[in-house]
Amino acid sequence: MKTYLRIIRYAAPLGSLLPQYLVFAFLGVVFGLTNFILLQPLFDVIFEQLGPEELQKYVALPPFELSVEYVKDLFYHYLIEFEKEYGKFGTLGYVCVVIVLSVFLANLFRYASEVILSILKARIVKNLRNDVFDRISRLHIGYFTQERKGDILSRLTNDVQEVEVSVASSLKVIFKEPVTVIIYFVTLFYMSTQLTLFTVIVLPVLGGIISEIVRRLKKSATESQESLSRLVTLIDETLSGIRIIKAFNAREYVANKFSKENDFYAKVNVSMARRREAASPMSQLLGVLIVAVILMYGGNLVLNNESSLDASGFFTYLIIYSQILPPFKEISRAISSVQRGLVSGQRVFDIVDAERTIKNSPNATEVKSFEKGIHFNKVSFAYEDVDVLKNIDLKVEKGKMVALVGPSGGGKSTLADLIPRFYDPTEGDILLEGKPLRDLDIESLRSLMGIVTQESILFNDTIFNNIAFGKPNANQNDVEEAAKIANAHDFILQTENGYETNIGDRGAKLSGGQRQRISIARAILKNPPILILDEATSALDSESEKLVQEALTNLMKNRTSVVIAHRLSTIQHADEIVVIQKGKIIERGGHIDLIEKNGMYKKLNEMQAL
Ligand code: ADP
Repeated sequence: MKTYLRIIRYAAPLGSLLPQYLVFAFLGVVFGLTNFILLQPLFDVIFEQLGPEELQKYVALPPFELSVEYVKDLFYHYLIEFEKEYGKFGTLGYVCVVIVLSVFLANLFRYASEVILSILKARIVKNLRNDVFDRISRLHIGYFTQERKGDILSRLTNDVQEVEVSVASSLKVIFKEPVTVIIYFVTLFYMSTQLTLFTVIVLPVLGGIISEIVRRLKKSATESQESLSRLVTLIDETLSGIRIIKAFNAREYVANKFSKENDFYAKVNVSMARRREAASPMSQLLGVLIVAVILMYGGNLVLNNESSLDASGFFTYLIIYSQILPPFKEISRAISSVQRGLVSGQRVFDIVDAERTIKNSPNATEVKSFEKGIHFNKVSFAYEDVDVLKNIDLKVEKGKMVALVGPSGGGKSTLADLIPRFYDPTEGDILLEGKPLRDLDIESLRSLMGIVTQESILFNDTIFNNIAFGKPNANQNDVEEAAKIANAHDFILQTENGYETNIGDRGAKLSGGQRQRISIARAILKNPPILILDEATSALDSESEKLVQEALTNLMKNRTSVVIAHRLSTIQHADEIVVIQKGKIIERGGHIDLIEKNGMYKKLNEMQAL
């Protein structure tokens, strides 16, 4: 229920929409009901069922009151008048016109109310999707390694969709059907209290059966949603790893895995559909059963003249009663489909509620400039339980270049990730300008930094937009300047539309070196005082490495940089080289010192010389 209300709240602001909706829905129901109320007078007049006193009663106009009875009396009055003047055939025509008119009005109002509902529904889904997207982009980096990407994707697309088709669609049922049921019941009570009381007693049976079905549905819905997100993960992995899959002839393995999961998903869905589809025929059967019981009981009353209803009244009563059952059926169908939506809703809210472990402290201060340096003070770090960095002491002074080298898995990238505060150290502090990162405004901290990683992160957009990514107000000139420094200008001009060329998904239309130079141009344009280069040239062939290395050298001029390098030749001139192994600093110093030391650094150098 809490989840449901939370979803509904996304429809805000309701303002005048809800009252408008209720008025339209109410009028729709009332005009719908009018048709049935008119049936009794029609029968009575056309088939001459009225006695002389009754005929007398309707000669004068009935006194006005707001009731079903008034409408009926009014209709009797006009019908009798009409019949006197135009005969039975004319009366029939008159009734037909009235019926068509009231059906027209009923549908007009129904239409208006449906439109309002659609607005609310669209709004719920739009706001929900925005909210989830917003949260996702704010979540800390660690979240994305813990959760599978496919799962997140599936929540953002399928689950939001599910909320749309089930929960949002249930709005109609929630608001309208109860109104219908109440108005119809009031009418029925009015027609025959005794009979209606009797029927009210039978209804809870229907409710009991429906709630049992609902309980069972919820479990399957969870299973189904989880299976679907595993499917999406598989698809995502296959798409991004298609080369490897083909190269290793692993197509069958992947296909098997997929088809197994797909089978399971289908099975769960069928079993869920079995229950869901059972809900509606069951309630229909029960409905007919109830009508049959009323027919027996009420018919008896009428036949023995014990009821306030006469034959045509009873007939009308039954017709109106049968109109109550569809709303009940709708309600039961909605309840069962809402279960699926609620499971999805919960999965969506799991993301919305995911704790933001990296966030601004309440008294965070902005960093405006970078003058002193960065200081790792006895920093340790662990991913969950695995210790990755132990007791790191390191100073990166302004204007200096510090290189991190060492065997892979040693913790270099992790150390670099701590500087923009992608993670917080588990022990110790990182100080920038003498202040712990935790006390700094995150946005201002990150605005000091440019990051270039091994895999260039580009977006399916134009070259211009990819370069101007971190600086939305950059003009053509700025972008071109940055591209020139990054050795990218020439090849950009050779592309089809120059700076306006779309580079495809993740930059697929460019070579590795070109992608990397665009990433560097992006960093140059941002012009940050601090640079973090994580194996920026490792993925390149030596030809493009040269171009990229040149670009990097241009980029690093007059900046403070932390460089992770696999190719040691590129960092020989660093102010300090730090060798990290198994999370600890084992050697540090300049290139020549370290070679003389004859330790790990020298060993790494010799290995590369081979
Ligand atoms: P390097 O950059 O020196 O190759 P990393 O910093 O990437 O080393 O990794 C250091 C250690 O941390 C490795 O043992 C790796 O398995 C582990 N590790 C890296 N990222 C994560 C993560 N997101 N969750 C858990 N462990 C991780």
